Parts: sequence; C-alpha cells; structure tokens
Amino acid sequence: MHVGRTLFAAFAVSLGVVVVASHSSARARAQGRSSPSVAATEGTALRSWDSTVDAMVRNGSLQLRRSTGDTLMSDRVHERLNQYHNGIRVQGGDIARQTDRGTTVSIFGNVYSDINVSVDPVLTSSDAAAIVKRESGVDLGPAKMPQLLILPRDGDYRLVYDARAYTADGATEYFIDANDGSILLTLDAAQRQSAAIGVGTGVLNDQKKMSVTEQAGTFFADDSLRPPLLWTIDMHQNLQRTLNFLNGLIELNEPDRASDTDNKWTDGATVDAHAYVGYTYDYYFKRFGRKGLDNNNIQLASLVHPVNRSTVFQQPSSILGTFFVNAFYAGDGIMVFGEGLPSNVTLGGQFWNYLAGALDVTAHELSHGVTEFSSNLIYQGESGALNESFSDMMGTSVEFFYEPAGSGPMRADYLIGEDVVTPGGIRNMANPSAFGDPDHYSQRYTGPSDNGGVHINSAIGNQWFYLAIEGGTNRTSRLSVTGVGGSNREQIEKIVYRAFTQLMPANATYSTARAVTIQAANDLYGSSSAATRAVTQAWTALGVN
Ligand SMILES: [Zn+2]
Repeated sequence: MHVGRTLFAAFAVSLGVVVVASHSSARARAQGRSSPSVAATEGTALRSWDSTVDAMVRNGSLQLRRSTGDTLMSDRVHERLNQYHNGIRVQGGDIARQTDRGTTVSIFGNVYSDINVSVDPVLTSSDAAAIVKRESGVDLGPAKMPQLLILPRDGDYRLVYDARAYTADGATEYFIDANDGSILLTLDAAQRQSAAIGVGTGVLNDQKKMSVTEQAGTFFADDSLRPPLLWTIDMHQNLQRTLNFLNGLIELNEPDRASDTDNKWTDGATVDAHAYVGYTYDYYFKRFGRKGLDNNNIQLASLVHPVNRSTVFQQPSSILGTFFVNAFYAGDGIMVFGEGLPSNVTLGGQFWNYLAGALDVTAHELSHGVTEFSSNLIYQGESGALNESFSDMMGTSVEFFYEPAGSGPMRADYLIGEDVVTPGGIRNMANPSAFGDPDHYSQRYTGPSDNGGVHINSAIGNQWFYLAIEGGTNRTSRLSVTGVGGSNREQIEKIVYRAFTQLMPANATYSTARAVTIQAANDLYGSSSAATRAVTQAWTALGVN
C-alpha cells in the first residue's frame, strides 16, 4: 500500500492572503491512504515541506527536471522536481517549488511514500516493444523504445514500461507491466482538438506574410528569422509516411519540407500553419518572455496534408477523427494538422476546413507543448481537463492578441475552432452548455470516455477563464462575477500562464487549479487586487473550492 501525499503549502508575501483552508486539510487527512488529494497548509507546513523536499533531493528521490527564472517577477525562480524510486521515475510524483531570492514562497505537488516495488523488471524494453507491436501493429524506432516507470495504481505501485504508438486510429500510450507483460492502462495520447465532426469551406483567402528560406532557387517553409527553426512539412497526403515519422521509423528531410518555386504560396494549409505557429511563438515571447515550447527555443515542426481529403468516404471513422477532423500535438515540438473534409461535405451539420486555418487551434496545439515542458499535466481525468483547458485559454488569448474582437472569420471570440469548423466551432467558453459541456463543477463528467472527460470537463476551466475576464453570471450557480474587463485581459492571461506553467503540479485537480491561480494572482497583483478577486469569485461561481 502507498500513501499518496499531495501537498500544497504556500504563504503569501503580502498579508491577509488566505490559502489556508482548514476543511481541505481535514479532507486530506480523512482520505489518507487512498488517492492523492490537495492539502492546504500555512507557513509552518511550508517550511516543513521545504525541508522534506531538500532531504528528498539529497537522497535522490526528487530530481530536478527544470529550473527556470521568472520573466514576470525577476527575483523568483521555479524548480520542477520529479520523484524517483531507486532510479525509476514515479508517474505523477512531482513538485513545483517557487523561491524568492532563495526563500521558498510556495510548493505545490504530490509525492508518494512507502513505495515498495522492485525496479528489476522480468521483461526487457524489447519485450515491451513486442507487446506494443502485438497490440498496435507498430514497430517502434530506437528513440521511441518503452521506458521503465513506476505507476501508482489502485492503492499500490507497479513497475511498468511506458511507450507511445501512432496508428491510423490515433495515438495510444501503453503502460505495460514490466514483470508479466499485462497492459495496465492505455491512454489516448494525442492531445488534440476534440474529435467532433464536420466539414470545411475553402481557404479563408486572407493574405499574410510568411518567413521562409530560399535554397538554390526554391523557397522552403523554414522560418529562419525567429530564434528557433519553425518548419512546415508537407506530408503530401501520405498517411503511412506520416505514421512512420511519428513512430520514429523515418527521419524527415529536404523533400518533405513545404516548398514553392516563386515564393507566392497558394497552399492554404501550409501558409496558415506556418504563419500561425510564428504568431503563437511571438505571443508567448511578447506576453510572457517565454522562448518557445520548452523556453529554450526547441524547433517546431508542423505537419500538414497527412491524408487525402477525397478518400474520406473510404476511411474508417477512427482515421476520420484523427487525421481529417482533428489536429494534435505529438510531443517533441511536432504538430499534426488535420486535412478537413471536402468542401461539399458536412459532419454533424458543420463544414470542416483545413485545421491549420484556425489561429486558436494552432495556439491550442502549441500550448500542449508548453504544458509538456512545464507542468506536464497528466492527460487523464481532472489534470487532463486542465491540460485541455489551458490550451483553450491560450488559444483564445492568442486570438485576442492578434485579431479584433467580434464574430465571424478572423475575429477574436470565446469560441474554439470557429474559423474552420463552421458554423460555430467546437467549444464555447462563454456558454459551455451550448455544446452540452458542463458549466459547473457539480456537472462534471466522471465516466471513462475521452480519458475521463478531458475535452468535456475542460469546459469548467474555460468558463472560469471567461468569467474572470468578462464577468457575468454562471448559468448553473447563478453566482455573479466581476471580471477584470476585456481591456485588462492581460492580467488573467499572466495569472493563467504563471499558475499553469510554474506553480501547477502534474496531477493537479480543479481544487489545485483554484489554489495555484490565486497564488499567481497574489504574486503578480496582490491579494486585494481586482484580478485576485475576479479569479476567486469565478472559481466560486463554478463550484470549485
Ligand atoms: Zn487539446
């Protein structure tokens, strides 16, 4: 048996900040040995946890994953630490510690204790790869071989191999028992736009600049002006080649790069993917000082045309849902943009254009990369819903950064994907119930579909974001919120960015999200600010306490 200890210890620099919730401490004690839960404590507990973290670092059971400076508060440093047991990483065991000139300000996270599992596997990584092959048909390349991991599971720990395989059906992450080869858990690993159904009208026909590279008289969609290489890759509607690349079996090279002979680019998917990836990079840098997905200018590859639109009626629904009416982040800076549907075809009453044609979709996918390199929110249950919601919040924020507010094509609003999925897009942050999504925590989905409702319960965070900016009344609780106002949206964006990328642990719940966003608001604007009030009121209106 294990005891999962989630901790959340924080003190505010200013006075009067209440991050101490005695009832949640009691709840944490009551839940004790079962699943990790959030505990809120005050300064004494913070100092105690600080010592505990230091001791765990010294004995190797916590290892630094990343330490970053703070572009918004220059004296602050954020450490992220992964938990290890005898050298093997523990899934979901991680700590985010914020310091101010060496003094700890906050610790959020989750550490597991009493781990008693052997780390000597019966099976080899190759054995596990053979199981992945049996299950998926995929041969994994050398860089994608299964890795050992300790998986907390049903009140116990299991030594597993973790691997991802890409097939025409999508992406699956396998957790394979390293001793008996049984598959303990599979997750849909493609962090994508929701697999809704529809069709697109033509290209939006707008003109935009592209940063490209000329080589021997040919122009390539390689952005060499921004600090990282941003390249757009034309898969020429070859699904098998796309899958082989995602599974690490082939490298992409020059002929794969999207190219044009006269530098007058007419392929809408290439143009938009290339331009919007650049816009999103710029947003993160201009707004938050972040340098790309990993804050270290990792290169970004955008794959367009993974399938042929005209073959849609010969495809099983799984391929339709992955490579036609979807877009997904595949890890390591790689995005895949779905092809949409023929312009005379609708799905669920909607047309589906090239997914690359929507700025919010592009920013949504890239924000999954930011999450991968920061909080690394586990793509399941409430942490998965928060992962999705962060991407929708940033997708919408990028729209408002570049586009005038309004409705219609290339206008900023609180719909998701509305420029390519017409009419109406696929989600509505202002009114989640318009798509049947919950707009209150009490209505959250608790079933097994969609990795535990990651694209459904994201609506709770989405509605929070909307209310914190625009204000208004939540339709379920009838509680009203005074937002910061659209002209101050930057405040909420910075709070979200800080909370999600710097303070939030990997298996956060909505309760954690409330705590970290309030902490972030206090850090940036003070406990009596309008922003802190808006953030707090909005969570309360959503029933998240
Ligand atoms: Zn997503």
